[in-house]
Order: sequence, then C-alpha cells, then structure tokens
Amino acid sequence: MKVAIAGGTGFIGGHLTRYYAERGTEVVLISRSARASDKERVKYVTWSELEKNVSAVEGAEAVINLAGESINQRWSEAAKARILDSRLDSVRRVADIAGRLERKPVLVNASGMSVYGLSDTESFSEESPHRLDHFLAEVVEKWEAEIRRVPAARTVMLRVGVVLGRDGGAYPKMRLPFVFGAGGRIGSGRQWLSWIHVDDIIRLIDYCVTQEEMAGPVNATAPEPVTNDAFGRALAKVMGRPYLFPVPGLVMKLIFGEMSMLLLEGQKVLPQAALSGGFRFTYPTIEEALRSLERRAKGG
Ligand code: NDP
Repeated sequence: MKVAIAGGTGFIGGHLTRYYAERGTEVVLISRSARASDKERVKYVTWSELEKNVSAVEGAEAVINLAGESINQRWSEAAKARILDSRLDSVRRVADIAGRLERKPVLVNASGMSVYGLSDTESFSEESPHRLDHFLAEVVEKWEAEIRRVPAARTVMLRVGVVLGRDGGAYPKMRLPFVFGAGGRIGSGRQWLSWIHVDDIIRLIDYCVTQEEMAGPVNATAPEPVTNDAFGRALAKVMGRPYLFPVPGLVMKLIFGEMSMLLLEGQKVLPQAALSGGFRFTYPTIEEALRSLERRAKGG
C-alpha cells in the first residue's frame, strides 16, 4: 500500500508516518520544506515540487492531510489569518494534486470539533447542527466546505478532539503542574474535554483509509469525554500527586487571551460514526489512556 501524508512532520503526522512505515506501507510525506528521503520507507516531497509534477503521489490509495498553522498561540489578527489561510491553502493544493492523479485517492482530512459550538450541558455527534459561535467554528466551517470540493474516491473529515500523547499536543503542558504537585481544576472545572489517545487516532485514521463505509464527518474523540475536573482528578490519581490548586478563569484569559476559551469552555463530542462503523478504541476511558501515557514516560 502507498499513502501520502501532508503535515506528516507534525505531532499526529509523525506518529502516523511511523505506524505506516513499520507496517511496510510506502509513505510519501508532503511538506513545505525539502528533506532527504529515507530510501527504505519514507519519501519526502514538497508542495512546490508537486505543483510541477504529481508522479511522487501517483498510485497512492490515500492522501491524509494534517497540514495547518498551529492554533496553540495567541490569536492576534495576523495569527487568525494564518490559522485559516494555511488550512484552506493546503486543501486547495491537495485538490489540485488529486485532480491530476490518474486514480483518485481516498482523502482523510483533519478538521475540528469546533463546529458544534461550546456547551457544558449538551452532547454532540456528527449529526448535530453547526453552531458558529466563535473564531475556530468559522474556520472549521470554511475548511470543510473546501475539503468537500476535493476530487477524491471518498472523503473523510476527521473532527479531531484533544489528542493525548507524550511528545506533542496539549498533554505535556496539561501534566506539568501535576509534576510539581500544583495540579487543580481550571476555571469552573465543569467544561468538557473531548480527548483521544494518540494511538487510537492513528488507528482511526487507518480505519478511515481502509473501510469503505467511513465517509463524511467522523469525530475523532474517545467514547467517554470527561469534565476538566474529572480529567484533573484522574491525572492526579494516576501520577500519585495532589489535586489542590484551582486556576481561576481570569488567569487563563490573561495568559492565553481569546484562545483561553478552548480551556475554559468545552464540548462533549461523541464518536458516533466511528463506533457505528465498527471501530474499537484501545483506550476508551481516561484512566486507561493516562496510565498508558504515564507508563510510556517511564519507558514502558
Ligand atoms: P502540528 O502543528 O504538529 O503539525 C502540522 C503540520 O502542518 C506541521 O508539521 C507543518 O508541516 C504544517 N504546517 C504548520 N504550519 C503551517 C502553515 N502555516 N502552512 C502550511 N502548513 C503548515 O499539528 P498536529 O499534528 O497536532 O495536528 C494536525 C491537524 O489536526 C492540524 O490541522 C490540527 O489543527 C488538527 N487538530 C489537532 C489537534 C491536536 O490535539 N493535536 C486537535 C484538533 C485538531 P511542514 O512544516 O512539514 O509543512
């Protein structure tokens, strides 16, 4: 099998590239910068090279697009423009590439769960109406409209939850206060955290590539989201640390600006499409996921 991964140099992409390479799948990694290809397993190609010639991607069963400017920064007007434009631009480039391929690939494109809006009380599935109540919700709406235009054999829009892994994403920062014995709830603690273990999202991406019935929006979240308070208590228990020091919402707002809303207001997002499509989570509960991540830190 052959797959092309755009944004494969990032956190999720790095795990995905290793997953496929270890299983003997040919990986073509699409990046903004040129890198020497690993002859055995991974070939690198730049977006600009593909503009001229798509032969490196020819024959790929799937294109997995994870490229986009990080949202983990202060959302200045310039940063907001980069967050939106980088996503629309990468999808347009994928559309151009796919349009020139003889055999159309399956497209699995990252997206976000922000389209459901924010709520402490409701729960959301792929069928929930869109509620464009903040900046990221609008980004995802425009992003998915662009994704739908890509000429692909089948399209999956992976509405990615908070991916928990030791080497990237939010988790290393979330556990840090607990390392120093200063863990506690953030804001009210009632906001939902819809999370997924990094190993599960990698398996889910592959499931979306290989299973014909997976199409359209797919929530990439574990079946048991938790409140911020439940997450903190589980982490304190797994790490054997105290859970004592709440961080007021105002402090988060001062540190993170508008982005603090992602930490102070949440969403309970359920993986209905994945479960009804027969996907089985290795880490369905937060305690199992955290135990695995903390074991991993000790080399387990
Ligand atoms: P990373 O930030 O780790 O990696 C994204 C990749 O995108 C980078 O390696 C880079 O590849 C490319 N990239 C970065 N900035 C730009 C830019 N301005 N223009 C074009 N390409 C850029 O992301 P993750 O792996 O964490 O996430 C992958 C996708 O999933 C993203 O779209 C993200 O929004 C989404 N997502 C992730 C979540 C998470 O918890 N990690 C949660 C929700 C959504 P290169 O330099 O090689 O071009």
